[in-house]
Amino acid sequence: MGTLVLGEDVKPKAAYIRKNSLDYSQGRMIRDRLVKAGVPVTEIAPRGPIPFPSRKWQEMKGFLLVAVRQRGPFQSCRPSADYQLPLVSGCPGLCEYCYLHTRFGQRSYTTVYANVEEILSWTGDYNAKETTVFEGSATSDPVPFNEWTSSLEQAITFFARQDGKRFRFVTKFHEVDPLLYLDNKQHTEIRFSVNTPVVIRQCERGTPNLAKRLEAARRIREAGYPSGFLIAPILANPTWKEDYPKLVKAIAKTIDSQGDNITFELISHRYTTRAKEMILSLNPESTLPMVDEERQFKYGQFGYGKYVYPPTIREELKEVLTEAIQRALPKAKVLYFV
Ligand code: SF4
Repeated sequence: MGTLVLGEDVKPKAAYIRKNSLDYSQGRMIRDRLVKAGVPVTEIAPRGPIPFPSRKWQEMKGFLLVAVRQRGPFQSCRPSADYQLPLVSGCPGLCEYCYLHTRFGQRSYTTVYANVEEILSWTGDYNAKETTVFEGSATSDPVPFNEWTSSLEQAITFFARQDGKRFRFVTKFHEVDPLLYLDNKQHTEIRFSVNTPVVIRQCERGTPNLAKRLEAARRIREAGYPSGFLIAPILANPTWKEDYPKLVKAIAKTIDSQGDNITFELISHRYTTRAKEMILSLNPESTLPMVDEERQFKYGQFGYGKYVYPPTIREELKEVLTEAIQRALPKAKVLYFV
């Protein structure tokens, strides 16, 4: 069995629907859409094992589970937002460095929820601050399977009605057309995760190419959403000094502006020992540079250690990227470099 089909849409190889999901109109809608598209759908018990035909990490990426999210406290999501908003868990992409490896390991299928309306209503419990920000991509890329659920449309429309709440998410995927005509009231911020064509080719299999991401970013910006770019992971490979400025120029050319209201988040490559072990066990062929001796070991704000580039390389990366951004997009704002 191959992995999922990536093309104009992301089509699961097979879907499993917990029977209690069908108590919700959204659950029935997801089932009907999948069946209509010819995806094999199996209804399964509300609890218990899922009869996947394969347990291999790469194969599991092609499977979709439709379930009912149980109520529980939203997890904190610093520094990106105040809380995680669990609309989707998992992602069909095959990025070698993905942060989801350490979270889900072999269980790499994607779970979508039939009770998004309830999940959104639970945000009412979180009013601690004047403006509370919810992150929709803490445990997923929420775009690739959205065509089956429409949960982003629901969330964006919901947050447009909220005075003290904001929604944000980041994506590498380009299927954003259904979001373009929503009255978002600028309460949702959509960032695009981009990288150089070399890094995309080598490390981000199963995701759209740079041109598709930039075109989607342009359309989202024209639709009036606050938007920005996340460049991560920044890899100091042999051609990085030419590649990253070229990437910034390509962004500037596509969005055709001085960078007004555009933000950048810059994250240099880092890994934990646990992540390295997981990456190599899932993908022994990985070409990610993870030689501990070439790195600096640093304790982060969450108390665990990471292997980051040594200070001289980090400084150089920061300088080259921020200068390229200032030159190409003088009005853009670099939020941080880590
Ligand atoms: Fe992970 Fe994002 Fe790549 Fe999906 S697109 S595999 S969430 S890094």
